[in-house]
Amino acid sequence: MIMALRKYCIRCGKQILSEKPILLLCRECSIKEKNEKKEEISLVLCRECFRYRLGKRWYTPRTIFDNVERYIEDIFNEKIVKILRVGYETGSKIIKLNYGICDECSRMYGGYYEAIIQLRGSDDFLEREEEKIISMVRLSYMPRNFISKIVKVKGGKDIYLGSKKIAYKIVRSYDKKQYILKTSHIFYGIKDGKRVSRVVYLIKEKGVNDG
Ligand SMILES: [Zn+2]
Ligand SMILES: [Zn+2]
Repeated sequence: MIMALRKYCIRCGKQILSEKPILLLCRECSIKEKNEKKEEISLVLCRECFRYRLGKRWYTPRTIFDNVERYIEDIFNEKIVKILRVGYETGSKIIKLNYGICDECSRMYGGYYEAIIQLRGSDDFLEREEEKIISMVRLSYMPRNFISKIVKVKGGKDIYLGSKKIAYKIVRSYDKKQYILKTSHIFYGIKDGKRVSRVVYLIKEKGVNDG
């Protein structure tokens, strides 16, 4: 016959109704104590893209998940143990979750751009290259990987890009032997004492109307 030991919680003094000899805290107090030790973290997810903010900085995740819980587990490299009213609890953290708009997305909605790629050529060429550029931008993990707008112009399309680096990467993938490539810069102002310019890349299909 097992005799239940009469034990009391060292924190609140309540009697502990358990036969486990190692227990020093009652159930409520042990939950409380665990939570008190957990680090509280505020996580903001961009409602428009997949970036997240911790503290003051926005980060681009290593992996993109469509499931928010898996996404959070990946960010913190910890399993979620509980869903809270304010967010999630993991082994060591209380994660308060909020939604917002990241810097990149607010730039994008403000029409921000650093580079223009001018595609010139046949309809087939335009369609194919536009699609290729859109997917290259989407797959790049660089900052400001967005297209602000695509404008149809006479003889082609102008693609406005959030980042010069991405534009450069795209243009570099085109072969000079196959296409006419030109680069020009438009100076558009001074920011923090530095000249700021935008870059314009021309990618033209070689063919009948070559000038
Ligand atoms: Zn207690
Ligand atoms: Zn965003």
